Amino acid sequence: MRPLALFGGTFDPIHNAHLRVAWEASELLDADVRLLPASVPPHRDQPRASAEQRAALVRAALAGQQRLVLDARELQREGPSYTIDTLAEVRAEIGAERPLVLLVGADAFAGFADWHRWRELFDFAHIGVLTRPGHEGGTLPTELRTKIASRRCADAASLRESPAGRVLPIAVTPLEISASQVRALLAAGRDPRWLVPDALFADSRLLAPYRQR
Ligand code: ATP
Repeated sequence: MRPLALFGGTFDPIHNAHLRVAWEASELLDADVRLLPASVPPHRDQPRASAEQRAALVRAALAGQQRLVLDARELQREGPSYTIDTLAEVRAEIGAERPLVLLVGADAFAGFADWHRWRELFDFAHIGVLTRPGHEGGTLPTELRTKIASRRCADAASLRESPAGRVLPIAVTPLEISASQVRALLAAGRDPRWLVPDALFADSRLLAPYRQR
């Protein structure tokens, strides 16, 4: 069965590295990827743009292709966007058998043990850990290392053998782009052209929240 992959984030704003790594994971896993902007991210500072503005940016960025799609469910939920709730919802929708893969960047995975009910995430999905420049080879917290020791696998085919529970490192093209960098450029009156998709410049309202001082 083809896996379904979920790629959560603040997407404040979405940038070309988000898009490219999601695309590469989609090709490697032969999976559709849903991008899920978090309305109230529990693990970090609150976003600069509203949930609706960030979803509009994602929608604009994804136009013209079908592999990556926006899933706006976390924007409709009250309170913090806990990944465990999202995975439980999606699992209920797709049934018990279909492989589900949660994609996270290496930086996000390093903090995984702070996520709400993190140990249960492995019951709902596999985890695909995307390489990210500047976040190579760091030591994971002991409890996380212990939890994943017997779950690691080396090839994408392994994720088709069960619906959830494995951890797959996914080597993607190293792209040193961050949303913080894009926000800083816009706040300084500069133009983040080619760090974000051209579609974000097509409507001046899309990036306006970041241009305001
Ligand atoms: P910020 O700079 O505001 O912290 P960000 O660029 O890390 O933002 P997020 O929306 O926080 O973007 O990230 C969503 C997901 O995408 C996370 O799992 C993150 O690790 C991953 N990600 C973001 N940028 C990259 C990148 N350049 N390479 C690989 N993964 C990335």
